[in-house]
Amino acid sequence: MTAVTSTRTSSARTHAPFVGRDRLAALEQVAARYAVAITPAVAELIDATDAHDPIARQFVPDARELDRRDEENGDPIGDAAHTPVEGVVHRYPDRVLLKVVNACAVYCRFCFRREMVGPGRGALSGAALATALDYIRRNSQIWEVILTGGDPLVLSPRRISHVMAALAAIDHVKVIRVHTRLPVAAPEKISAALVRALRTDKATFVVLHANHPRELGKKARAACARLVDAGIPMLSQSVLLRGVNDDVETLGALMRALAECRIKPYYLHHADLAPGTAHFRTTIAEGQDLMRALHGRYSGLCQPCYVLDIPGGFGKSPVGPRYLGADGRTIEDFNGRQHDYLPPQ
Ligand SMILES: *Cc1c(COP(=O)(O)O)cnc(C)c1O
Ligand code: SF4
Repeated sequence: MTAVTSTRTSSARTHAPFVGRDRLAALEQVAARYAVAITPAVAELIDATDAHDPIARQFVPDARELDRRDEENGDPIGDAAHTPVEGVVHRYPDRVLLKVVNACAVYCRFCFRREMVGPGRGALSGAALATALDYIRRNSQIWEVILTGGDPLVLSPRRISHVMAALAAIDHVKVIRVHTRLPVAAPEKISAALVRALRTDKATFVVLHANHPRELGKKARAACARLVDAGIPMLSQSVLLRGVNDDVETLGALMRALAECRIKPYYLHHADLAPGTAHFRTTIAEGQDLMRALHGRYSGLCQPCYVLDIPGGFGKSPVGPRYLGADGRTIEDFNGRQHDYLPPQ
């Protein structure tokens, strides 16, 4: 497994970066097309002497982003088809996304919503937020509201507290989930006021987006500890990215770092078909091999669920690997050995 995955990493490293003026012109074209932002906290994590630095790869624009493939789509997971009112995505009966803001602290080069996010694409207007909250109020099957964007935690604690209080006041909403990259991108923004703003009498989970173990440095760990110490359970989501975390040592170290922060790894996303991101995508077979290797070597606390968001808006599905034989009579153990579960008939 190690041999396979390290070959994979080195193949990702055969793309020599462009240099000189050509590169600059290409990068200007990328920046004109997609938002770019790197915070001081993220800049600190970048090793400028490493041409293949996994942090830089996630945030520094690359000429390959101009290479748009036929299979790629500006709305890769089909949000638009499930948007009943501005800011709400209602794909599953019992839960909705509430996109409160379309800006982020950093812009990930592989972002699945890269056509929708950017600076100056501000928060939902007061009227749009009121309409979105009305929609949630009127639909009593909505058990959970997921604040996302963009990054909802770039809003001021005052605005976050307003949204949280409005959601908590809806009887049928029992769980509020917040998807964010801020504890990594700007840990200093996870202030006491922000933590207070997130606390209501409803169960609130914070889901951190992190893709490389180095993202969980001292400051990010302290920011996560402030949330968890306040009684807010944390989960994580990571994107499987070529040249960033597509080897078992890196992926395992990421999952361990998360567990050490009291963050339970939740999803490992197969990279979506967002425009100009082909250089980040692995195959699903590679992802399954990595998941098998994780299962073989790491604690159950370090096992995310590997999911694919089905293009077209059909939702997420786990994509394996499978351990139970198709006939339900054999099962594979963590060493890759097969066992009979029920005797063959
Ligand atoms: C991802 C997503 C969710 C959350 O899905 P879970 O499997 O519950 O984490 C909810 N709504 C939409 C539209 C989504 O894309
Ligand atoms: S933080 Fe999330 S929404 Fe923002 S650019 Fe990164 S992946 Fe996209």
